Amino acid sequence: MLTVVPPAPDPDAAPVLQVGDSLGPYVLEQLLGEGTMGRVYQGRHQRLGRQVALKVLHGHLIQDKSLVARFLQEARLVNQINHAHIVEVHDFVEELFPERVYGVMELLRGKTLAAQLAERALTIAEVCSIGKQIAEALHAAHRVDVVHRDLKPDNIFLLSREGREDSVKVLDFGVAKLLQTSGDLRVADTQSGTMVGTPRYMAPEQAAGLEVDARTDIYALGTILYEMLAGNPPFESMVFGQLAADIITQPPPPLPRHTQAGEPVPKSIQELISSCLSKRAEGRPPSMAAVSAWLERALQAPEKSASPSKAVRAAAAAGVLLLSIAGYFAFRPAPVPMVAPVVQAPTPPVVITPPAPLAPAEVTLSIVTTPAKVNVIRLDTGAVVGITPLTLRQPKAEQPLRLRLELGGYQPVEREMSLQTDQSLELLLQPVAPKQKPRVVKDGVLDPF
Ligand code: ADP
Ligand code: MG
Repeated sequence: MLTVVPPAPDPDAAPVLQVGDSLGPYVLEQLLGEGTMGRVYQGRHQRLGRQVALKVLHGHLIQDKSLVARFLQEARLVNQINHAHIVEVHDFVEELFPERVYGVMELLRGKTLAAQLAERALTIAEVCSIGKQIAEALHAAHRVDVVHRDLKPDNIFLLSREGREDSVKVLDFGVAKLLQTSGDLRVADTQSGTMVGTPRYMAPEQAAGLEVDARTDIYALGTILYEMLAGNPPFESMVFGQLAADIITQPPPPLPRHTQAGEPVPKSIQELISSCLSKRAEGRPPSMAAVSAWLERALQAPEKSASPSKAVRAAAAAGVLLLSIAGYFAFRPAPVPMVAPVVQAPTPPVVITPPAPLAPAEVTLSIVTTPAKVNVIRLDTGAVVGITPLTLRQPKAEQPLRLRLELGGYQPVEREMSLQTDQSLELLLQPVAPKQKPRVVKDGVLDPF
């Protein structure tokens, strides 16, 4: 259940930081943004000159020590993924006088997807490319059992490179989970106590207060894809109770046939989004790797991209019905009267056909490495087939595919991957020479540079 938490005045709280203030070895240069967990500043290391982003947790959140510990744990886990499309966290600092907790991140230059969508409509190619990168990042996170839970355009950053804004970094992992573990899900602005952004991207199971898993993020990605094409997310009510009821019970309004820029929306993309937005998690694509492969096909051959089978549509339709029923009983919004119609629910047997969004004559191979950006080479042809993290579509075959993974400074690795069924490979590359350890500077803060 979601409540709006009023700001908790704390006489001992550290004063809010201003531009020009020092924080550890950094001087604050600019406020970059503010979200659910804290304020993000651009900072400069005073001795080394290196610019970073500093996320300073809101004062009322650091009172909860278990929340801080979990935030640190999550940051550590996410950093281990070391993925090209996930923001890198260099350091995590707890200061006692005054009490402050902050993370030091790579400084990203560009804008959030939310800001980009407010400026202009995206092309279909941009939508597929951005969606694919989000899916790749999340697939890597899901492999280590990290579910984002708060995917939304505010938490997607588009890097500016050569005048283009289509290279993605996913921000803000694990925040919703942290807040949930410290009590009710809090979506509050500490200054005013008002809600900061309605939970429009929440999956039905989240809105109903049920367990979440990787498929909850797949739903959220569906809402983001929807918004990138339609200009608005599928459900938009300003009243939380109404919004949750709609998310749980209502089918999403059909996507427009054309984007705001006039491009026709490919049927395969409509079907992918509809599958991601299945009310019941079983009706959604089975993994982020499947979503990414689907978008990759749409990018490479727009007209020929695979459509989900009838089974997916049937499962999605069954999901709408089943979750409408389950959600109606599970979800009891206290402050706002429910508007969903009363359903006399029979208890139908739950028979959901697992979705089969990809053509059966092909298999999906997904390869994730630590570190990322490793060259993947076919040993039979010598061709470089891509750079990790990588999702490959290959025709089914009896013989396995033999691959070699190479990256400068690391020992090359050779692996066989079966082409009979979908396969995933996760590899930790061993450095040729041991890495240099980060040095500790004199104020005791780990210096990552
Ligand atoms: P919160 O948990 O408080 O929502 P976020 O990590 O989402 O915090 O950051 C809030 C905002 O700060 C983002 O929407 C973005 O505009 C900006 N921001 C966050 N991280 C960075 C970064 N590494 N570089 C540049 N801007 C950032
Ligand atoms: Mg955020």
